[in-house]
Amino acid sequence: MNIHLPKLMDFFADKMGELGYRPALFASYSSVDDGRVGHQGGTLPGQIFMHWYGEKSVIEAIDVDELFWLFSHEVAHLYQREGADVIETADSWIHEGAADYFAGLAFESILPKGFLSQKIKQAEQGCLASLEDNPVYLDASRKNPRVHYDCGLLIINAIDKKLKDQDSISIYELWNLYSSKVSAGAPAGVDQFVLAAKPYLPSEMIKNLEKLKTPEFSALKFISKLVADNT
Ligand SMILES: [Zn+2]
Repeated sequence: MNIHLPKLMDFFADKMGELGYRPALFASYSSVDDGRVGHQGGTLPGQIFMHWYGEKSVIEAIDVDELFWLFSHEVAHLYQREGADVIETADSWIHEGAADYFAGLAFESILPKGFLSQKIKQAEQGCLASLEDNPVYLDASRKNPRVHYDCGLLIINAIDKKLKDQDSISIYELWNLYSSKVSAGAPAGVDQFVLAAKPYLPSEMIKNLEKLKTPEFSALKFISKLVADNT
């Protein structure tokens, strides 16, 4: 991890610009033996928090790839800067999906072994299963907040594919454009993100992104199509 972390920082600094400060990493573990096991991660400006809980034997068996993925996701949030501070929970797919996607790109660049495509496959299953139960995005994500990560990863992946097809700006440049609007005072969220993306994406995709959280829109149809187009 101490070899990979600096590489991770270099990767993101190269794509999204230097942070201009040295972030602090806080990792902690609490031993609980009531059968609960898991982890939480979070960021505050300049700080990454990672916490694990569970029985020691379970924690020791944590997959190193999964661990590196978690760190990459949290580091990606730091480089997302102000754009990550989305106001409405319903908009969480932009920063959670993009953090997963950026984490995947960083992972592939440091340890190329197809982990991103594996995560995308898992996200397809997770996202579409939730949307089959609740085709309306707000309902699905309220019931299962993982929807923001899984469906978000698929949407950001599809956006990146479109940008590449059109030989347009990179997904990092798009994020930075959006984030700089937020640092200039615009509210962080899907509206500003889509506004920043508008000149670079097909109008149909923009329309669908604008409608994603409205109650009459089938997120299931939209995301199933994105998945079909990308396979
Ligand atoms: Zn996150």
